[in-house]
Amino acid sequence: MGNPRRANGHRRNQLRRRVLAEETNCWLCGGPVDKTLPPFLAGSPEVDEIVPVSLGGDPLDRNNCRLSHRLCNVRRGNGARRRADPAPVLRRVRAW
Ligand SMILES: [Zn+2]
Repeated sequence: MGNPRRANGHRRNQLRRRVLAEETNCWLCGGPVDKTLPPFLAGSPEVDEIVPVSLGGDPLDRNNCRLSHRLCNVRRGNGARRRADPAPVLRRVRAW
């Protein structure tokens, strides 16, 4: 109750549903997106931020969010967004 992260997650889910409902094509490659696919496939629907959150973009602003293929989003993440954090998960496991 009153947890801002949960509140943002809820708003993000609402925005995601809205993007999926309003858009039909990937904004990165222009191809149609099959919204019936499960979330882990290359062609699965994903909501991408035009200005990444790491660069100050608002993930809750409808104007900053576009429908994309998962693969297109990942590719863009590797290219345009350069964030130097390779292998973020595996390293922390035995830190203590
Ligand atoms: Zn695409």
